[in-house]
Amino acid sequence: MRERVFWRIFIPLMGLIFLTLLGVTLYLSSLFYQNNLQRMQTYLLQEARLVRNLIMPFILEDPESPQINQIVQDSAMLVGERITVVLADGRVVGESEKPLNQLENHLSRPEVQEALRNREATEIRFSTTVNEEMLYVAIPVVSQQRVVAVVRMAASMQSIRREQQALNHSLFIAAIIAGGFAVLIAVWITRRVLAPLESLSATAQQLTERTGEPARGEGDEIRRLQAAFQTMSEHLREQVSQLRAERQKLQTVLRNMRDGILLVDETGKILLINSAAAEMFGIEESRAVGASLIEGVRHHAIVELWERARQGHTPQDGEVEILPEHRFLQVVLTPLGRESENAFLLVFHDLTRERRVERVRRDFVSNVSHELRTPLASLKALVETLQEGALDDPPAAQRFLRQMEVEIDNLTQMVRELLELSRIESGLVPLQRKVVSPCDILRRGAERMRLQAERAGLTLQIDCPEDIPQVLADADRVEQVLVNLIHNAIKFTSPGGLITLSVKQEGKSVTFSVRDTGIGIPPDDLERIFERFYKADRSRSGEGTGLGLSIARHIVEAHGGRIWAESQVQQGSTFSFTLPLER
Ligand code: ADP
Repeated sequence: MRERVFWRIFIPLMGLIFLTLLGVTLYLSSLFYQNNLQRMQTYLLQEARLVRNLIMPFILEDPESPQINQIVQDSAMLVGERITVVLADGRVVGESEKPLNQLENHLSRPEVQEALRNREATEIRFSTTVNEEMLYVAIPVVSQQRVVAVVRMAASMQSIRREQQALNHSLFIAAIIAGGFAVLIAVWITRRVLAPLESLSATAQQLTERTGEPARGEGDEIRRLQAAFQTMSEHLREQVSQLRAERQKLQTVLRNMRDGILLVDETGKILLINSAAAEMFGIEESRAVGASLIEGVRHHAIVELWERARQGHTPQDGEVEILPEHRFLQVVLTPLGRESENAFLLVFHDLTRERRVERVRRDFVSNVSHELRTPLASLKALVETLQEGALDDPPAAQRFLRQMEVEIDNLTQMVRELLELSRIESGLVPLQRKVVSPCDILRRGAERMRLQAERAGLTLQIDCPEDIPQVLADADRVEQVLVNLIHNAIKFTSPGGLITLSVKQEGKSVTFSVRDTGIGIPPDDLERIFERFYKADRSRSGEGTGLGLSIARHIVEAHGGRIWAESQVQQGSTFSFTLPLER
């Protein structure tokens, strides 16, 4: 790999160096040549002007004076150049290189022509007179605004050419030396640039091979490197989107989990908390992350469990009660070990409901046994009294037997209601919902209880507007609720009282009410009368079981409704419940 890429970088670099050096050399060479020529021309011009001054008086006096040739020869000796003086008609009257008679007419020489036009002229040309390439400079000799003659200086180009050659030689050597250095530097730079590229390529290659994909891309290493990078970036993108999806899933799971989750680091700092845990401890998720465990959960028992797990590197579990809501939480604490940076996972399972159900069940059993024991004890006492001789007293025996019958009826009623309650609670008897008119249910309930009410000296009144919409309900069950409520109203209202049954629509539900003018219920008891076996006034409600309202509440709640009581002692009570409207 290295060699191919090396040449790919090195050859163009070399080309660049070569072209630059060539350009610089050519430019310098021509610059020197131009300079030299310029200098030479100036020099010749100055000399020509000098000669013109010297010959001027003679030309004006006698253009063919031999003095002119003499001055030309003397001057040429001094300056070392060839000097020629040509008259306006082309005749040569002064010449430093050859005898005058050997010279032809010089009118045709371009520089002479130019000077005759009263201009200073320069020309490089091969001289047939001296047989070599010469540099000519010609200037006019002017008298009374007329060109009377031309002074021409000529220098051999050989010296300039020689100087130029020597210079070119030096430049060439300098270029070779500079080129050599440049090559060395280029090699060094190329290798330096290549070193990281090489390791990059090797890494990319390894990574691509690890992903199990065949290395793509033909051609040289840079292209393959490019291909490897492309493959890598595709993999990376894929992995990032996979990770994002995984994260999303994890977050959804965490968010929707009922159990609370906490992740705590070695120092006790909270790394992660899900919404269930945040809700359990009444803290915002954003504030909990980064806070310490004690700040987050505010519970010493949990911190102690964590301490124990940290010291013993063992999982811990326990139960804690969160006050003031009396929430029971089961805590399972697992050290996640080195792989997860020694973090700890805390899972909180809310046991409050289970605990409450357990307590209710316990209370229920003790209540039932208590409620059964009372009539059983009185039955036992009655039986004993009969055995101890009351049987011999027929009127007394009759009285005892009637009392026994009342107790047995009470027991039977209680057992029946208990069975009913447990059936409703366990959901064994599903609701038979149908679309029914609330007024119909109300009327049927009232009819069943009318006789009983009249016997107790009470008036039963119905208030049901005809436009009440229908409800979706199990009519028999709802009727049973009404019967229970009317039964209570009759029981707790003195003769002459009034019982009013009414229905009205309120938003998306219908509210049924049973109002009496009875003894009322003290505020403290109002909350509790719907509990099983609860009786507000035990002396007055002796024959009841305390289960009627409990059954009513279960039936109403099974319909998705709500039941409540309002009352004023000695004024009367109103029991109401709602049923959702048929949708
Ligand atoms: P029971 O009537 O069999 O005792 P309930 O569950 O029906 O049991 O009623 C619970 C208690 O609520 C009653 O013992 C009574 O103290 C009180 N109560 C219910 N209805 C009325 C009412 N209309 N007027 C006054 N007290 C009532």
